[in-house]
Amino acid sequence: MSLTRADWERIACPVCDGEAFTHLFDKGGEPFVRCTGCGLVLINPRPPYAAIRAGYDSAYSAGYTRKAQSKVIRARKRVARVGRAGGRWLDVGCSAGFVVKAATEAGFEAWGVDIEAGGIAYGENELGLSRLACGTLEEQHYPDGHFDVISAYDVIEHVPDLNRFVAELARLLAPGGVIDIGTPDLGHWRVPRALSDWQELKPSEHLYYFDRATLARLLARHGLRIKHKRFALKPGLKVLVERQTSRAVG
Ligand SMILES: [Zn+2]
Repeated sequence: MSLTRADWERIACPVCDGEAFTHLFDKGGEPFVRCTGCGLVLINPRPPYAAIRAGYDSAYSAGYTRKAQSKVIRARKRVARVGRAGGRWLDVGCSAGFVVKAATEAGFEAWGVDIEAGGIAYGENELGLSRLACGTLEEQHYPDGHFDVISAYDVIEHVPDLNRFVAELARLLAPGGVIDIGTPDLGHWRVPRALSDWQELKPSEHLYYFDRATLARLLARHGLRIKHKRFALKPGLKVLVERQTSRAVG
């Protein structure tokens, strides 16, 4: 990326709207900061999203298709773990579509969306999937309440406009539906004390680093709550999300 920092985008905290940040360190020439209001760690300012998106070429998903068999096995586990049967499933950031494939096998009408064309082509041609779309979630304009299960594995840390993204998830969720989210967990006991050594820190790629509290606070802005957090041996935040009941609001 040959842009100067003058072109970079400076944002308010997407979780608490705060504008005060503590600088932690630079990595890959990008500043990692912590919001003083809520503790979210993020890259700020950051390169413009058009430049970031251009980095999602097919080399990015080639790694997924190389390990196809293990991806299939993991996808089946993920689908089984959600514990639902039937209805519509949307996998956001579906890559080559292994979760879409596994959900289809499990009896769902399964859909997938990803910004990277190489993965979509693989899913259509090699996995025989027909409900994949290339682009951002917001570009698809799916109907309100269309999906009983929405999964987003290793996606939320990448999206340029977090509130627009989560609002879209909430809009698409059917009554009684669940959202299964996986993202690196800043609050995990295995995150190195020297945060800059954490392998999940990826300039231009992982834009935000959540713990349970910051993710819950972001979700609450959109009427969503964490129903269940799964134990994870590796520093991953794995949560099942549902709509807040009127009793839980506030
Ligand atoms: Zn904040």
